[in-house]
Amino acid sequence: MMKKKLITGIATLLLGVSLLTGCGSKSEKYMIATDVTYAPFEFEQNGKYVGIDIELLEAIAKAEGFTYELKPMDFSGIIPGVQANQLDGAIAGISITDERKKSVDYSNEYFDSGVAIVAKADSTLTGESDLQGKTFAVKKGTAGAAYAESILAKYGAKIIYFNDTPSMFQAVTSGNADVCFEDYPVAMYKFKTETNPELKVIGDKVTSTPYGFIVKKGANAELLAKFNAGLAKVKASGEYDAIIAKYIGK
Ligand code: GLN
Repeated sequence: MMKKKLITGIATLLLGVSLLTGCGSKSEKYMIATDVTYAPFEFEQNGKYVGIDIELLEAIAKAEGFTYELKPMDFSGIIPGVQANQLDGAIAGISITDERKKSVDYSNEYFDSGVAIVAKADSTLTGESDLQGKTFAVKKGTAGAAYAESILAKYGAKIIYFNDTPSMFQAVTSGNADVCFEDYPVAMYKFKTETNPELKVIGDKVTSTPYGFIVKKGANAELLAKFNAGLAKVKASGEYDAIIAKYIGK
């Protein structure tokens, strides 16, 4: 009798522990990383985190009924953090590339983007062909950095690395670098919101790459499915268009 009670007690305890640790439970709070200063996708405004990615994630989570905690961090830590399972997912204007597909799974694409070359507003440089012997500023771990690295030898150029977009832009403004490589919508948003833009895009976009939400490869199909289902819902409801219009216009 005593023994049976004990066994029942242990079984109840184990069940309780497995519920507490969320073993198999679907009601967890996802840890989702984002970039720190990446307007119009994520940035701080009046002490609040706002932007296209932030509002899109909010709308998708609401539509799908999941909760999450936002973790703003330097972009270079995001993909490694997802791979190492320290983060459940990330939304940070992340370009969909074949290289990254080896280590992360992407959602359906949610925004068209691509890398542009940015120079000082009064620069005489007109595009990539003028970059011989120039100094490039890039942000660590980005698609822009990968593109700059791929043409570095060809143009005998120098490269300087930064942790965030504002410091990278600043390097060009101050003349420490001749150009930087940043996603077109991010560069355009910066110019649009300034009265006297000190920088400009030169030439055409050098790549064309959409953005996707990411999770660790092969490890979080559930969150990915929720993101995709939610994305379809917010597109159908018009919420998606409203968010884009709010930050970029029609
Ligand atoms: N779209 C670029 C990339 O994925 C940059 C993203 C970012 O800086 N947040 O590499």
